[in-house]
Amino acid sequence: MGRLLEKLNVKCRSCGNKHIPYRITGKYLNGGDKGKRIHMWQCRECRHIWVDSSDKNSSLGTGRT
Ligand SMILES: [Zn+2]
Repeated sequence: MGRLLEKLNVKCRSCGNKHIPYRITGKYLNGGDKGKRIHMWQCRECRHIWVDSSDKNSSLGTGRT
């Protein structure tokens, strides 16, 4: 269990705060990637949002729809 938390403990790309940010799922509504889902983080401190860099097709899913 501790390992999972450690993995979620990431550093904000903007303010450098290391913590467990909010997780956000997004979906492209237009363009070439329309319908594609992406995962994002939001910093609890500065509210900066960035795309999860480990977001490749494989790790997208916890399997939930
Ligand atoms: Zn931040």
